[in-house]
Amino acid sequence: MAFHAHPDDEALATGGTLARLAAEGHRVVIVVATDGVVRDAPGAALRARLDELRASAAVLGASRVEHLGYADSGHGAELYPDPPGRTRFVRADPREATARLAEIIRAEQASILLSYDVNGGYRHRDHLRVHEVGRLAAQQTGVRLLEATLPRELTVRAYTALEWTGLVSGHNRQALQHGFTPRAEITHRLDVRGYARQKRDALAAHGSQLRKGRVAPLVRLLIRLPAPVFGLALGREYFIEPGAARTGKPSRQIIPPAGQG
Ligand SMILES: [Zn+2]
Repeated sequence: MAFHAHPDDEALATGGTLARLAAEGHRVVIVVATDGVVRDAPGAALRARLDELRASAAVLGASRVEHLGYADSGHGAELYPDPPGRTRFVRADPREATARLAEIIRAEQASILLSYDVNGGYRHRDHLRVHEVGRLAAQQTGVRLLEATLPRELTVRAYTALEWTGLVSGHNRQALQHGFTPRAEITHRLDVRGYARQKRDALAAHGSQLRKGRVAPLVRLLIRLPAPVFGLALGREYFIEPGAARTGKPSRQIIPPAGQG
């Protein structure tokens, strides 16, 4: 089970891993905390983002998609008022969100929960909350927890390179210097280059995010890349398993293919 903040995070952060687990015979379930809509959206925009998520999930081979019912808190300085009928994720009681997630974990008898590292990756407030709720739900249910991340050194280098292209602007570099996880602490590094096509196509299913948003030009560039080239850029996915001692190199799989081991 993969727990994410917004529609499209499942593709970018864990798309290759989910496609690989599904291809290896595991049941894959995606849970998003929020609908991914920041501005007071008419119902159509809200449905569109969740429809995009379902299309992405189908590409990745996931069997079920659930939305915990919260609204996107946004990444700007201002936290907007709650939209009608929904609470922004950071305003919700984490215990209530944990109870909703734990119920799905128990119903699915999930063996693994994927969540986010202690920095919520790039420190979006909804991602930080996903980390918190993921930890609480794992404590309550006993499910094995792995937290998606990237090597911090790599993100800072990649970002600096992207600044030269003009596709991103420098004001996020400082956040990245305190984001993600130092390479030495990463416990799992999965080679998902063989699932680059699924990851790219899942990302492309989020059409609304290709038209607007700060990283839209970058994502538009990525999804036009041939799968092998895309795989070079985004063909490895990284996790930290809390409490697991790292000995030597990071592990290359999180669970054996179904029916083995
Ligand atoms: Zn997100």
